[in-house]
Amino acid sequence: MATPSRTSGPLQVRCPACGTTNRVPREKIDAGREAVCGRCKAPLGVGRTPVTVTDATFSAEVERSSLPVLLDAWAPWCAPCRTLAPLIDELSAEMAGRLRVAKLNVDENPRTACP
Ligand SMILES: [Zn+2]
Repeated sequence: MATPSRTSGPLQVRCPACGTTNRVPREKIDAGREAVCGRCKAPLGVGRTPVTVTDATFSAEVERSSLPVLLDAWAPWCAPCRTLAPLIDELSAEMAGRLRVAKLNVDENPRTACP
């Protein structure tokens, strides 16, 4: 498993879909462009916006992520969750390429929320 580089070079990001290690220039992330796998074109999830995870993608997106993951488990009826949402988005943009921010709707994905 690839570990993200801490230096200023390109990030090495492992594709959650096919496992290929991709080199992603930091400028690309800073420019807000979505990085995709060079082999299968799957999104690498190192962009500036949080990735939405589901029961089906949790394992690939979170458990096998090459970056540390902050998981925001939220629900539509949860007022504090909605208050927090803009901050989560902000954090995602700020930490792009260093931290992956993932969002899980616990109402739609009960299997991951309550194993
Ligand atoms: Zn791939």
